[in-house]
Amino acid sequence: MIDFSEPFDVIVVGAGAAGLATANRAVDLGARVLLLEKGDAVGGSAALSAGILWTAPNVDVLRRIQPDGDPVIGPLVVKGYEQAVEDVRAAGVSVSDEWLDHLEWGRACKINILDLFAKWTAKVDGSSGGVLTKVSNVDLILDEGRVAGVAFVHNGVNRTALGKAAVLATGGFQGDPELKQKFIGNGADDVAVRSNPHSVGDGFRLGTAAGGAASRHLSGFYGHTLPSPLPVSPEVFLRMTLYFSAYGIVVNRLGRRFTDESLGDEVSNQFVVRQPGQRGVLIWDDEVQQKRALAVPYPSGMALNRHAEATALGARTAETDTLEELMDVIAGWGVDRAGLATTLENYQQASVGESVALDAPLPANPSPLKTGPFRAIEIQPCITIPFGGLRVDGDSQVLDRDNNPVPGLFAAGADAGGAQDLRYVGGLVFGFVFGRRAADAALAQTSGMLDGGRLVSAS
Ligand SMILES: Cc1cc2nc3c(=O)[nH]c(=O)nc-3n(C[C@H](O)[C@H](O)[C@H](O)COP(=O)(O)OP(=O)(O)OC[C@H]3O[C@@H](n4cnc5c(N)ncnc54)[C@H](O)[C@@H]3O)c2cc1C
Repeated sequence: MIDFSEPFDVIVVGAGAAGLATANRAVDLGARVLLLEKGDAVGGSAALSAGILWTAPNVDVLRRIQPDGDPVIGPLVVKGYEQAVEDVRAAGVSVSDEWLDHLEWGRACKINILDLFAKWTAKVDGSSGGVLTKVSNVDLILDEGRVAGVAFVHNGVNRTALGKAAVLATGGFQGDPELKQKFIGNGADDVAVRSNPHSVGDGFRLGTAAGGAASRHLSGFYGHTLPSPLPVSPEVFLRMTLYFSAYGIVVNRLGRRFTDESLGDEVSNQFVVRQPGQRGVLIWDDEVQQKRALAVPYPSGMALNRHAEATALGARTAETDTLEELMDVIAGWGVDRAGLATTLENYQQASVGESVALDAPLPANPSPLKTGPFRAIEIQPCITIPFGGLRVDGDSQVLDRDNNPVPGLFAAGADAGGAQDLRYVGGLVFGFVFGRRAADAALAQTSGMLDGGRLVSAS
């Protein structure tokens, strides 16, 4: 039984990547922690993830990939990566060998995320605080603008937990049509959600109600393209993700390209939202099929014939011997055939060095359609986490419009926005690095001091 008569050092709202990392670190520092989770179980989107802990290998690569990312937060993630991996190992959880070409430029390892979360949860449960699932109606209690605790409902009982700091880690607003439309725009309200179902902007709303401001990059988001039409459910999240779209040609219903595909499926995915009907078509030849589509997207990833699976699941797919036949099928999906023919012709010419006008830049290593059979899939966008959220500093402290801290309030993981611009440099790593930083900063601030990494006095 958790004792609510005494105040907690930290109350963490949301028990996914960021929330569990925060709570784990806070317990290690000797704090009394309350971890509140809305779902039936802990884990959030992280528990549905591929468990790849990754990011840019150094700040130079980070700047090349995300020239407009937050200049403070991004480098802290790069710097914090090794500690994040160490935290996983310290829990006695398996970590694979590192690979250095994740998405061609990232450093990455595979971790046993379910084992990690089981261990972190047991630790918090066995501490002087505890973990509660199936929590609802979470609200922050403020005292003269400073966080003083959290009110919530658990098992039908209204509870009040007093606390010196709160960390919002509810996983973003991807499940909330209103916030999606407001920030991403372009009819994004009904973009399919590829995440846990509970991340509906609670952290953002709680944080802004307490005085926090919104971050930058509110219109950016991470997700992947999936075949269309296809109901988006956890069974297809990893199985049907079209990672290899970076090596194909992506067009809209006008038959025109709208992005440099080599920027990654995560970028094409965002731009599909802005195309007519919010649909695109991914086209590739047999060389890409053999080398990319059938290959594992990353070590430990699934090697699957995603074209065949999408066909079996009823998505719009095509497989033909000639390009003429392919264009006929795609035209039947409502794509302008003449526009498509021009696009493919121009792409072909540009890839052999001809000077032709293109709708979008040619990838550095283009994939002209050379050898049949040729394949196509209609694609739909989806959202896993927004890049925007609450404005935070490098300690995960929530900031107001004037960049002053909201006393006692922190945000980590997808609730903390602004770190990423258009391209994606990791999800779990933000939770792990900033969960840890939030715990350190919250305890340092509320206790006044940390002695040798341990909390000395909470009052
Ligand atoms: C299919 C899939 C594959 C992925 N693969 C990878 C990968 O390999 N590598 C990678 O880096 N990233 C990956 N990601 C992204 C990664 O999972 C997220 O970036 C990460 O989980 C975000 O961490 P978070 O703590 O912010 O949110 P989450 O992990 O989603 O945790 C948020 C938690 O808050 C809870 N919550 C929401 N509202 C409330 C409330 N009001 N009160 C209490 N609790 C609340 C939610 O139920 C949830 O448990 C993947 C995601 C998916 C869906």
